[in-house]
Formats: sequence, C-alpha cells, structure tokens
Amino acid sequence: MARSELKSRVLQENKSTKMGSVSANDVLVALRQVLPAEQEFIALHEPLIAGREWDYIKDCLDSGWVSSVGRYVDRFEDMLAGTCGVKHAVATMNGTAALHLALVLAGVKAGDEVLMPSLTFIATANAATYCGAVPHFLDCDERSLCIDPAKLAAYLEEIAETSGDGVCNIKTGRRLAALVPMHTFGHPADMDALIEIAERWNIVLIEDAAESLGSTYKGKPAGSLGDLAALSFNGNKIITTGGGGAILTNDTAMADKAKHLSTTAKIPHKWSFDHDQVGYNYRLPNINAAMGCAQLEQLPGFVAAKRSLARRYQEQFTDIAGMRIFAGPEETESNYWLNTLLLEQPDRWFQDEILEVTNSSGFMTRLIWKPMHRLPMYSDCPRMDLDTTEELADRIICLPSSAVLGAELSQAGS
Ligand SMILES: *Cc1c(COP(=O)(O)O)cnc(C)c1O
Repeated sequence: MARSELKSRVLQENKSTKMGSVSANDVLVALRQVLPAEQEFIALHEPLIAGREWDYIKDCLDSGWVSSVGRYVDRFEDMLAGTCGVKHAVATMNGTAALHLALVLAGVKAGDEVLMPSLTFIATANAATYCGAVPHFLDCDERSLCIDPAKLAAYLEEIAETSGDGVCNIKTGRRLAALVPMHTFGHPADMDALIEIAERWNIVLIEDAAESLGSTYKGKPAGSLGDLAALSFNGNKIITTGGGGAILTNDTAMADKAKHLSTTAKIPHKWSFDHDQVGYNYRLPNINAAMGCAQLEQLPGFVAAKRSLARRYQEQFTDIAGMRIFAGPEETESNYWLNTLLLEQPDRWFQDEILEVTNSSGFMTRLIWKPMHRLPMYSDCPRMDLDTTEELADRIICLPSSAVLGAELSQAGS
C-alpha cells in the first residue's frame, strides 16, 4: 500500500480509535504547534555545531596532533570531569567502549552476571557480553522509566546469596558482578535506592549515563553517583564528538587503569614498546576531542534549549486525553535528551498509527528500543518478571528533540 493511501486510511480509521475521541491526528496537530512549520523534515535528534568546533579542529589539524595523544584530549577530559562533578574522566572512542572498559575495571569476568534494565539500548547488554558475562534483566518503574529499586531489592532477597567471592545468583550459581542502571532518555534513575542495594550486596555500581549528560539527581550530576559511569558522544547524543565516549570515576587508581587499558596497556617509555597485559585501542583521537571541547562549552545552552522544548511539548499535550509527555520525579532534573510521549494504556495499534501519521508528515518519531529480553541473542538470559517493561514498550513514542528546536523557540519567545 502506498504511504499516502495508508495515511488517508489511517486518518479515516481514527474515528474508531480505542482512545475515545483522541486520534493520531491530534498528535500531529500538537507537533505542528511545537515544531517549526517551515521545515519539511524534522529529525529525531541532530547535532548542533554552533560554537568553536571549526577553530579547535583547525588548530588540531595545524598542530599535527590528530591521534590519541594531544592537548585537546587532556582538556576535554578536564572539562568533562568538572561538568560531571567527578575527579577523573577518561575519553574513549565511543560509549560502548567506555561501558566495556568500565565493566572490565569493575572486575566483571567470563561466567559472571551483570544486572541491568531490559529497557535499554543494546550497547549495555553487548558490553557485558564482550566480557564473557551474561546480562541479567531487571524491570523498570513508571515513575522513572529506569530500574525499579523496590522490585530489585525484593528480587535479590529471593535469588541472591552472599558467598566467598561476592554475591551469587542461587538459581544459576553465577556471580552477580555489577549493577548497571541506565538513565533512560536523560531521566535519572532512583540512585539513592540503587546505591543502598549495591551497598547491601556489595555489588559494583556502574551508571550507563550515555543519555544523561547535564541531568541531575538531587542536584548531583548523573554520572557522578556510581563507582564508575560511561558517557557517549555519538552523533545523536546531547553533545557529540562524531563518535566518542568517556569513563567517569572518583577513584584515581581506576582512572589510571582505564587510561592504561585503553592505550593497549602500553608501559609509557621514550623508545621501547612494552605491554603488560592484553589491552584495548579505545582512546579518543585528539581531533574528536577538539570537537568535544567546543561542544561541551555549549552544554548549558543545549540543556536549557532542550528543557524549554520539553516544556512546550508538555503544555501542548496536556489537553490531549489518554497520553502525556513523560516527566521524571521531582528529585531529578532531566536533560530531556529524547522527549517521550507516553500513552496511558499499552496500545501497539495506536502507537503504530501515531508513528505512521507523524513520520509520513515529516516528523521523525520512533519507538523505544525493543526490550533486550525479546532479542534472539538475549532471550535466554536470566531475568525477573518484566511486566512494566513489556507495557512501557507498547506505550512510548520518542519525539523530535534536537537542541536547535528549543533554541529557536526560546529566541522566538524572548
Ligand atoms: C548511545 C548509548 C550507548 C552507546 O554509545 P555509543 O557511543 O553509540 O557506543 C550506550 N548506552 C546507551 C543507553 C546509549 O543510549
């Protein structure tokens, strides 16, 4: 069926949608109120290159220091550590590498299990797999869209047991080596409760903060709350270095080890090549770090613009029954990396209808990731009951959220 045909069919059928008198067309009308009318296509999340990117990259090229050693890498790491309120940041070539290395640093080994939400981007699960470990999937709550701490606490009382080398899953006999909360779409997880659980069981806590640069939990930056954290600077993230990532930690020994392992475990020396273990070539090139410095200078503006866009969405959707724009709990302040339209009831049909109508009208909207336990390679992994995750997957639609959309609005509105 042609797109236009499907669209008109969908528009006709709207009259009989289950959501009372509300139709996918109402969503389209709301998007047209919030987003610039003159543009033919509006991306889900595009980079904003509006600062000193060209200057710094040119300076980097002129210096000849384009690879993984150079002053922009050091500067970017210092800026990141300052922004995120941690002692150390170690830049990596992408967020997945940062997560992998964070798990290695945490001592995750082959045959271990890593606790993580099923509702996450696949990198979280893949990073555990690269260690030879098995992801163990946890449910989310509707309050945060992140790991449900109450459910996790009860679950661990049931399946976990403290043993000689840590804590073990009594059902599989494997060690529970790390807990990896992910701050979904920039909304911080309930970290106090998760820290309490990590302490109760003595499990390393690693934040997957790939989506939450600039977000805070009780006033503290996301990424500063666990033992380690991973950031991403992919093209669609809050700031971008083309591709890039970072490990954050307050532990100086860990940070030194992160640098060492990400630099092929080479022992620094003027002329000899000596390596003391199997390392990785995971460092961020200087040229990407140059871009990162320019991007990070603009972070406060990006976050303000994204929050202003979120407010506009929230206002515009308050009058539409059966759905709302998700806002996290009061103790958190999200960067609103991706704005989330949340249907009050799971409805795959209506979800698809909204996606069809909006995408065919030039608004790039998307489903949330398919939950990890539904993917073929992870379907046999251990997991708790995932009722809320299953429901949320059929309730969420991600809306266009680029900083530039909010920036234009705040200028127009001022
Ligand atoms: C983007 C992202 C990553 C991975 O980052 P890359 O830089 O793309 O490798 C990891 N976890 C989550 C939740 C992400 O959104």
